[in-house]
Amino acid sequence: MKVGNVTVGGDALVVVESMTKTATSEIDETVEQLHRMAEAGCELARVAIPDRDAVSCFGKVRSRSPIPLVADIHFDYRLALAVLEEGADGIRINPGNLGGKVPLERVAKAVLERKVSLRVGVNAGSLETTVYVKHGGATPLALAKSAIVYVRWLEEFGVENMILSAKSNSVPVTIEAYRILSRVSDYPLHIGITEAGLATAGIVKSAVGLGILLHEGIGDCLRVSLTGPPEEEVRVGYEILKSLHLREKGPIFVSCPTCARCRVDLHAIAEKVYRAIQDIDQPITVAVMGCEVNGPGEAREADVGLACGQKSGLIFRKGEVVRKVKHDEMVEVLLAEVRSLVRNIGQGRDVNGKS
Ligand code: SF4
Repeated sequence: MKVGNVTVGGDALVVVESMTKTATSEIDETVEQLHRMAEAGCELARVAIPDRDAVSCFGKVRSRSPIPLVADIHFDYRLALAVLEEGADGIRINPGNLGGKVPLERVAKAVLERKVSLRVGVNAGSLETTVYVKHGGATPLALAKSAIVYVRWLEEFGVENMILSAKSNSVPVTIEAYRILSRVSDYPLHIGITEAGLATAGIVKSAVGLGILLHEGIGDCLRVSLTGPPEEEVRVGYEILKSLHLREKGPIFVSCPTCARCRVDLHAIAEKVYRAIQDIDQPITVAVMGCEVNGPGEAREADVGLACGQKSGLIFRKGEVVRKVKHDEMVEVLLAEVRSLVRNIGQGRDVNGKS
């Protein structure tokens, strides 16, 4: 199915989504954030529509957005109808807080008229009280069942273009909820661990939860929810997908953790190299290793690698040692090899420079 010009589900690659964090009525700030998100690789953005002010600014934001926008609606179904008039590419609702079947039917009719997608997003924090009580809490079954009940209602109203999500901030609950959903439904699934937290804990929770689901083939679209900038959510999303070989985006960077055998400031070297290669689009592997133990092996496996030694370092390119360099030249020579490789790839040559 399509959200704007982005395909979600079927054989399409897993889509990376994020959400703006500016006030939607701050048009310039929101558009600037959307551009930063798109630059980081965000393919689909969600924009909260909490009130009429946000609705009235949405059209301007949409017309300047580089990526399709899904309007996030809670409580007041009329905001969904109004924002569709302003050109939303999709709507995300949690039907549990819209006020029942009648408002849901109004939203259904509007998305059908506009031929846009509808995300049915159930969250542990906003489950209907009756469901919550019946299941003794926000259990996986409660989340999945909730979503499916709404889906059946929407199907009665004729809606087919649906994406489902059932998120919790608990990794095991979320995983199990999506497993159930994937067994009982064929709709594309938007996956995420909601309210995952600040950087380190949030990244770990997201990587564990999304990683397990994606490895089981569950998930068509993902959002990493962090208390931090949306660009960071996007970068983490790609790192998760790259680690499972589900998407390629830019270099894969390998560096060792260092230990007492390391005779260089590998942390500083790795940081320098990592930062210097962030503008590269090609999925090349670059390795920076601290000593002779695992260094040559990993550097040889990479497209370009550095294995540091006691007094010098070996630069590898596609399995071959191409230079032996002094410590103070290692970064410069490594980056020159990386750039030369990227140029070759850009000219349609293979990694050894052959056409
Ligand atoms: S490559 Fe060498 S320095 Fe790096 S962790 Fe392994 S043994 Fe330690």
